[in-house]
Amino acid sequence: MISCGKKISMHELSVTQEIVKTVEQAVDNAGRGLRVKSIRIILGRLTGVIPEYIRFYYEMLTEDKPGLAGAEVNIEIQPIVMRCGACGNEYESPDGVNECPECGDAKGNLISGRELLIDSIEVEEIGVSEQ
Ligand SMILES: [Zn+2]
Repeated sequence: MISCGKKISMHELSVTQEIVKTVEQAVDNAGRGLRVKSIRIILGRLTGVIPEYIRFYYEMLTEDKPGLAGAEVNIEIQPIVMRCGACGNEYESPDGVNECPECGDAKGNLISGRELLIDSIEVEEIGVSEQ
């Protein structure tokens, strides 16, 4: 038996696979001869996804995809925002704390923080003549 304590982050890997698939389809639909320059992703804090892993896996998964490789992956973290059920106040919630700063009520409703969104994809044209 070989003991191995290396943690593999399946979460980020599968998320990045999904991102690559989505970007690939979007670029395919946009036309031929396009290359992805940059991708803007909005990532909710509550997803627990680590941006560095997304960048790492993106590079790994797009190695053999000329239209996608080398793109800049920009990740914007969306804070956790709650709306107080008692007074309606909207407030940003640091991890694990959800008491309303106005009235102290703890039954806030989540407004944002759980999203994972491909906001935009910047493409550039490459020569199609070589095909
Ligand atoms: Zn309140």
